[in-house]
Amino acid sequence: MTDTQILVIEDEPDLRAGLKHNLELEGYSVDTAADGREGLRKAKEGKAVLILLDLMLPLMPGLEVLRHLREIGRETPIIIISAKGQDRDKVQGLELGADDYLTKPFGLSELTARIRAVLRRTQAGAKSGGGERSGIGGVMKFPELVVDWKRFTIVRDGEETQLSRYEAEILRMLIEHRGEVVSRQDLLRKVWGYVHLPTTRTVDNHIARLRKKLERDVEKPVHVVTVHGLGYRFESPLLEES
Ligand code: CA
Repeated sequence: MTDTQILVIEDEPDLRAGLKHNLELEGYSVDTAADGREGLRKAKEGKAVLILLDLMLPLMPGLEVLRHLREIGRETPIIIISAKGQDRDKVQGLELGADDYLTKPFGLSELTARIRAVLRRTQAGAKSGGGERSGIGGVMKFPELVVDWKRFTIVRDGEETQLSRYEAEILRMLIEHRGEVVSRQDLLRKVWGYVHLPTTRTVDNHIARLRKKLERDVEKPVHVVTVHGLGYRFESPLLEES
């Protein structure tokens, strides 16, 4: 399992060394970074299949590392490891595209269970190429809009945009249930795999980002509409599927 590299970005030397040691015993190969800037540099190299990210870090805070990685389209799964009382930061981290979080102190068994769960979820998503699980795949054409599930791209008015993994998962779920209302809770459960998250604003933020890519006018969405108090509905008729 030497190709399964985990990057640990943590400034506390004892915790960093402890995580490295224990994860290596679990069969992972482990690289470490002691501050945010070094962490970002190593994360950008793209060798790690998963990143453990502390939030309070010297030189660059963890949330900045996360924001930067997602902005440049890096979808490496990230588990936030943070101190107690940083709930607001954790929520923000999830909104920025982190995959899970753990509050310090945590046990090794809990950590490895979360790592396995996140890897299973993200690798299943990647392998299915956006389609196999749900039975939708290939290319779908809607008015003014083309969705390519193999490449995770959409074309609107001749312009191609890349979808992030979460955006693609949300869109897939909405399109699967097109014409029906999908609740925020359902999206949270199915897309993120959370049973309880402090807020469903995570969903709304991702919908807002998705709309910027899908809609000509985000103020008057025609594809993904809000059903007040209930959730979202994909409304466009499917014109062609290949
Ligand atoms: Ca720290």
